[in-house]
Amino acid sequence: MGAELKLGKIIEKDVPLAEHCSYKIGGLARFFAQPSSLQELEKIIDYCQKTGLKLFIFGLGSNILFPDRPDGETLFVSLKKMVGWEKKNNNLFLEAGFPLSYLAYTGHPDFVFTHLLPGTLGASVYINARCYEGEMSKILGMVYYLDLKNLKAGIQELEPKACNFAYKESIFQQKPWVILGAEIKAEDIRHNWWRDELEKAKKINLAALDNFFQYFGRGLFSRVKIGVEEKEKLQQIAADREKKKQFCYPSCGSVFRNNYEYGVPTGILVEQLGLKGLTRGGAKISPYHGNFIINFDRASSTDVKYLIQLVQDKVNNKFGFIPGPEVVIVNGQES
Ligand SMILES: Cc1cc2nc3c(=O)[nH]c(=O)nc-3n(C[C@H](O)[C@H](O)[C@H](O)COP(=O)(O)OP(=O)(O)OC[C@H]3O[C@@H](n4cnc5c(N)ncnc54)[C@H](O)[C@@H]3O)c2cc1C
Repeated sequence: MGAELKLGKIIEKDVPLAEHCSYKIGGLARFFAQPSSLQELEKIIDYCQKTGLKLFIFGLGSNILFPDRPDGETLFVSLKKMVGWEKKNNNLFLEAGFPLSYLAYTGHPDFVFTHLLPGTLGASVYINARCYEGEMSKILGMVYYLDLKNLKAGIQELEPKACNFAYKESIFQQKPWVILGAEIKAEDIRHNWWRDELEKAKKINLAALDNFFQYFGRGLFSRVKIGVEEKEKLQQIAADREKKKQFCYPSCGSVFRNNYEYGVPTGILVEQLGLKGLTRGGAKISPYHGNFIINFDRASSTDVKYLIQLVQDKVNNKFGFIPGPEVVIVNGQES
């Protein structure tokens, strides 16, 4: 394509994607951007449309396996710096890059499940993130997005019931839409501390899981005042995630979706097959959680993909279905 970039500081060159995801895997992105406002994002989108560059939008990179050799014709755009919020329709509007886990410290019982859930608001809507009896679809008001195929329509909105939310699914996975933000149903929550905390967080790479845990686990827990009952709930979640050693190694969280028709979580099937601890290069099926493949020693994307394929084959042979990936696998030049 060879187009010269004219967006100056907005677009960076040769950025290691490994530094922008929780897996610490991913080669150099020829083009990379982190807009901090809607205006910057619109310029980037416009630029891509004019030059023919493909656009890959993401958040904190906690659910992505980036390629070892990214496609040089793609502009990788993280929205993690778009972290604004405002009151809207008696709800609270959060921009796409807002770190979801802040909600856990607001004192609202419906948001407790977001504790130590890595990632941004936008991606959590996209995947309908869920855990500990909570789910994004249950706390959302209107969702706002741009249709890349119809930019003239401007910012569009969608009610939750039109978002086709299901287990780890939403309409946003089927459409060329960029989620700009969403309302959460929160009339009265404690969030006067967000501004200071977001300033602190700017200096930390939260994509790295050890940093993430340090900041959202220990750091916020000691700094933000919450009730005794709420503290206990957060501690229970932290203990469960720590027991599964979720923050000890780079990973993408659960690699596979569960097959609810079959009725046994994929992690348990992996365990029954005796695959826990199996390694390939620097990647390993976690000994602590059958649905995690960890990067224990400079794993490549190819290492992880090998283990994904192996689990899919073995599960299919024994249990008769192929577990679909939950992780978003981005193809590169090696694939
Ligand atoms: C240790 C660990 C534990 C985890 N535990 C859980 C859990 O308990 N429950 C759970 O549901 N998930 C879990 N996850 C997965 C992850 O936390 C969620 O999927 C989260 O929503 C990802 O947010 P992100 O910003 O990092 O998304 P990214 O990884 O950056 O992106 C994920 C996908 O969303 C798309 N996307 C991102 N932003 C936008 C946008 N604004 N508009 C359109 N598309 C977008 C991307 O293109 C990509 O396809 C875990 C991950 C880790 C590493």
